[in-house]
Amino acid sequence: AEEIFRYSDKLSGVGQLAAGIAHEIRNPLTAIQGFCRLLEEGATPTQSRYLKIMKDELARIDLIVGEMMALAKPADAFFRIYAVQDIVRDVVALMNAEALLHGVELHVQCDSVPARLHCDPNQLKQVLVNIIKNALEATKEGGQVRLGVDEREDVVEISVEDTGEGIPEEHLEQLGTPFFTTKERGTGLGLLVSRRIVQAHGGSLHIDSVIGQGTTVLVRLPKADEKTSP
Ligand code: ADP
Ligand code: MG
Repeated sequence: AEEIFRYSDKLSGVGQLAAGIAHEIRNPLTAIQGFCRLLEEGATPTQSRYLKIMKDELARIDLIVGEMMALAKPADAFFRIYAVQDIVRDVVALMNAEALLHGVELHVQCDSVPARLHCDPNQLKQVLVNIIKNALEATKEGGQVRLGVDEREDVVEISVEDTGEGIPEEHLEQLGTPFFTTKERGTGLGLLVSRRIVQAHGGSLHIDSVIGQGTTVLVRLPKADEKTSP
């Protein structure tokens, strides 16, 4: 598997600017969402319908803004020693409902991987949620997504394998471009945010895809050094 994102270094400047703007959008957005909720009371059916659309679109702006902000967050603020198993367990609990909704089976293979990571567990969970979401979105009803955790000498490898549509070569090249998405309601920021977090953990993100067969995303993370761990 080759490391994804050939345009990696162009990102930081764009990411910083985007995050600055995103931050400014958050406050007025929250105010508008609040007033939308207030208007629901006493709204006619037509007005309710419009309000629902407004709330959905505001939620979408909120998602984009949140991902932009994640791009510029100082990544190492909340690092601690954490078991990889616990991260995976929490993510699976989070994603089971979504898998069910897609009619896709989510398998997990993570028995007896005692490895510990020096990490921000919430950020790593965000990475896995992003990757599993993509896998579920690419996979037809009845398909499968497999989450596996393997221990190598000094790295932990977390893989997400789907039986989805796959990624064409010309799209693989574009995965590093901010806002690149093939989805009608996509943000094109999920993988960027994920890669940024993984890199801040000293790890790397790899992607392998065969059209019509599926995609495997591999997250490689260095194990916590036991000597320095409590
Ligand atoms: P978004 O999901 O909002 O489109 P991402 O950064 O998460 O943004 O993904 C960018 C694009 O990469 C997707 O629109 C899709 O085309 C492609 N992609 C990512 N993961 C997969 C996958 N598992 N299978 C097929 N395509 C994928
Ligand atoms: Mg995504």
